[in-house]
Amino acid sequence: MNEYDSNRILDLTKKIKYEPTKDLNEANCYILNTCHIREKATDKVYHDIGRLKKNFINKSKPIVLITGCVAQAEGSILLKKEKYIDAVLGPQSYHKINDTILRLEKKKISPVEFTEFDVIEKFDSLNSLKNTDNKISSFLTIQEGCDKFCKFCVVPYTRGAEYSRSIEELISEANQLVENGAREIILLGQNVNAYHFKKNKLSNLILEISKIKDLKRIRYTTSHPKDFTADLIEAHKNCEKLMPLIHLPVQSGSNRILEAMNRKHTVEEYLEILKKLIKVKPEIKFSSDFIIGYPGETNDDFKKTIKFINQIGFINSFSFIFSPRPGTPAFDLVKVEERVSKNRLIEFQRIAENIKKNYRNNLIKKTVKVLFENKMKSGNRYFGRDEYFNSIIVESNSDLTGLIKNVKILKGNQNTLFGEIISNVDQTNYAA
Ligand code: SAM
Ligand code: SF4
Repeated sequence: MNEYDSNRILDLTKKIKYEPTKDLNEANCYILNTCHIREKATDKVYHDIGRLKKNFINKSKPIVLITGCVAQAEGSILLKKEKYIDAVLGPQSYHKINDTILRLEKKKISPVEFTEFDVIEKFDSLNSLKNTDNKISSFLTIQEGCDKFCKFCVVPYTRGAEYSRSIEELISEANQLVENGAREIILLGQNVNAYHFKKNKLSNLILEISKIKDLKRIRYTTSHPKDFTADLIEAHKNCEKLMPLIHLPVQSGSNRILEAMNRKHTVEEYLEILKKLIKVKPEIKFSSDFIIGYPGETNDDFKKTIKFINQIGFINSFSFIFSPRPGTPAFDLVKVEERVSKNRLIEFQRIAENIKKNYRNNLIKKTVKVLFENKMKSGNRYFGRDEYFNSIIVESNSDLTGLIKNVKILKGNQNTLFGEIISNVDQTNYAA
């Protein structure tokens, strides 16, 4: 979502004639868009500013803005602690960026903080501006914020309450992205499947967007098990453009821990969703997030998590040691000993990696459908992703960007699979 926000910040600042630069020496305005989900986020901001200061030591100071969730959570503390920062703007206030920059240019304001939850005003401003993102696989934020209040999580405090954008503005923005060249759209939300606008849910939005002719693939992330309703499961049966990989965070394989986290579902309920999805789409696969060493997690709870990942065979498991976030209910809970958490994480990741390795080894000599996103810097190599979001590289003398090809997988390493095109025809026959 930060990537989407950063692109929109670029769209906004272009209006006042600012252009992105890769050369830090050339910058006269520096915007640091931040994430606050795990610890050290604030330290990273101070560290970055330190580097920036060194870089600009004998030059005129650039305008320095901090945006994103660290700006929201820390607000004026950042301004007080680090005088080099000119303004902080939270994730629901970044539409005020141009006005802020213009006033800072004229030195008309002293350091300023915008951390209101102006989500309606923000999207009103953004809607009046064409989305210029021109990636083959583009992000589209459809929903923000969260009302679930898991005890470990800062999102309800930094992004605010659940908010869904109107279906009309989303279809219009999806059309813009496809006109810019997108062939895949990844619908985003902190709880993407909580999307609801009037009578429309995520399933309706997916079916509407799938009508865009040149759009070949749709994905969505991140969903919450509690919002996995029957209509969304049906959409996986009815919409060929919807990719058969679902990222559905579970966090733990122990009901005791799920309850302590306030996740609002059990392991059995989670499994039931997977069963229903497999029934409508047998080739569907899953990935998930896990928090290791949540306060109160015993060895027995941890073993249940291990049993769970072995049972499901997630093709990707993202795991994090519990990070106490200030302001959340879990912050003050008695922590699992660091050494124990670290050992559990190592064991978890070893097992998760083995599951992933076996899955990827099984792909060798198989044929997969790859949507190519870009030519790589070296050689005639093209990068793309298959339906399960695996990274695939092939060699080709003709331009593959934006095309879907059948690719035979020849070999792979931990992160990338290498293959050869076996069909030069764009064989996609995806229908809405
Ligand atoms: N809304 C999604 C859900 O309910 O599963 C997850 C969104 S959260 C932004 C992304 C992931 O960060 C979570 O699934 C969780 O695994 C991880 N996470 C969030 N807070 C954390 C914390 N305090 N410590 C460790 N991991 C955390
Ligand atoms: Fe955070 Fe997701 Fe829980 Fe909301 S549902 S509080 S975003 S982990």
